[in-house]
Amino acid sequence: MKVGILGGGQLGRMLLQAAANYVVETYILENDENCPAAHLCHHFTKGDIKDFDTVYAFGKALDALTIEIEAVNVEALEKLEAEGVKVYPKPSAIRTIKNKVVQKEFYAAHGIPTSQFLITQNRSELAAHLDFLPAVHKIGQGGYDGKGVSILDNADDLDKGFDAPSVLEKKVAIKKEIALIVGMNDKGEAVLFPPAEMVFDPVWNLLDYQLSPALLPEKTLWRAEAIATKLVKELNSPGLFAVELFIDQNDEVLVNETAPRVHNSGHHTIEANYSSQYDMLWRIILGYPMGNTDPILPSAIVNILGASGCSGKAVYQGLDEVLSMENVFVHLYGKAETKPGRKMGHVTIISNDYQDLTHKANKIKHILQVTA
Ligand code: ADP
Repeated sequence: MKVGILGGGQLGRMLLQAAANYVVETYILENDENCPAAHLCHHFTKGDIKDFDTVYAFGKALDALTIEIEAVNVEALEKLEAEGVKVYPKPSAIRTIKNKVVQKEFYAAHGIPTSQFLITQNRSELAAHLDFLPAVHKIGQGGYDGKGVSILDNADDLDKGFDAPSVLEKKVAIKKEIALIVGMNDKGEAVLFPPAEMVFDPVWNLLDYQLSPALLPEKTLWRAEAIATKLVKELNSPGLFAVELFIDQNDEVLVNETAPRVHNSGHHTIEANYSSQYDMLWRIILGYPMGNTDPILPSAIVNILGASGCSGKAVYQGLDEVLSMENVFVHLYGKAETKPGRKMGHVTIISNDYQDLTHKANKIKHILQVTA
């Protein structure tokens, strides 16, 4: 089977690593020929995943396609789907998710709990919604890694809002942020991974470290699982989805956003679960039985980010020390150049003791530095 992946970043790279367990011919479409996935696929095509003709030409000789990022040309995927190429997830699901305005409206229309919101077309409209603050303004299209998200606490913050169609949503009093990965096959059978719990870095607004399975009261877990399952069934598409949820101070479970693809919050599943999220997506695409999502052991993920003030050829400090730690797994993405805050790799730690996980996670964060 010939399967193409749109995008060749670290998620594409890990998908290709998992593909090596199956008989599948892999194709990558990506603009950067030195991207993390370029040298692990069977066929690399240099090209823009946002361009109709490029995506159509790439996909038309393939059996199936998947994505590692949602900023792709959906029209080309729709045409390919109409011509018989299987697309995971369906282009209709990518269309719903890729624009945060459409995504929020989808939740509201399908009774999926999410924070209260309204839609703004431009920045000047914000002045009419002072009574809605504190709120979070999210640009409809083009935001990534916190860059399209702005917190508006009061009238003084209005100039931080986006001058483009955006969602203005009530600021949630967050107790915990979790992510739950759901896989669904062509028959509509769904599997759930245990949720992961996030801890954020206030400087970069990027994930600091993550623990899995999240420590949650049973009722909250059931609620999160029910919401994530309903959401994916309503999207009505096979594929792999990461549902990011907030648990607020009143233990309400609210959907923040969904990614229609393998996700950073699932890296740990490579070592910590019987079937990884990457393995699961291949099972779905290749039509094999679903895998076992059970954890082998609890785990933590530490992201390896480029150190502040360092740009240029990446140098990994402290790697020997981290590699000598027990039950610690280093993944470097093979990016030649580092930049402040750039995701250069991740480290997974597995242990049956959560204290050991957080202790090692913090230790690794301090030891491992990417400088130039
Ligand atoms: P991105 O797609 O860039 O990751 P998110 O929508 O996930 O953006 O938002 C980034 C972070 O901002 C979230 O992880 C959360 O910490 C915070 N955030 C987002 N929406 C809200 C909200 N409604 N209330 C409070 N905090 C929020």
